[in-house]
Amino acid sequence: MSDCLFCKIVNKEVDTDLVYEDKRVVVFEDINPQAPVHLLIVPKEHKENIMELENEEFDIISHIHEVAVKMAEKYEIAKDGFRLVNNNREKAGQSIFHIHYHLLGGRQLQWPPG
Ligand code: 5GP
Ligand code: ZN
Repeated sequence: MSDCLFCKIVNKEVDTDLVYEDKRVVVFEDINPQAPVHLLIVPKEHKENIMELENEEFDIISHIHEVAVKMAEKYEIAKDGFRLVNNNREKAGQSIFHIHYHLLGGRQLQWPPG
């Protein structure tokens, strides 16, 4: 989508250091980190949120989880613990309407979230 920030990052129209990239996703650091490690895992294909996925399109979620585990190991938060978060729509705090998962770690995370 032409006016979507994350599409622009995927298409390299907005310069962002990618910490990981493959055929289906990109990963980069959140601009406003909420933990010592705060990465965003973003599918290359534009969908507003997970409610837009159908049938085999849900395979991307499995892939995102696989990448999250790889990143948790790379950033050395796998052993102590990390959180994978996906906000959907306004009441959950979604502010960028292109599917993304937050990978958070490196500190004690509280529960429940606000
Ligand atoms: P949401 O609130 O939609 O779950 O998450 C969107 C995230 O994108 C926020 O944590 C916000 O800090 C991050 N973000 C917004 N604009 C940019 C940007 O231009 N670059 C990066 N790296 N992160 C961004
Ligand atoms: Zn997009």
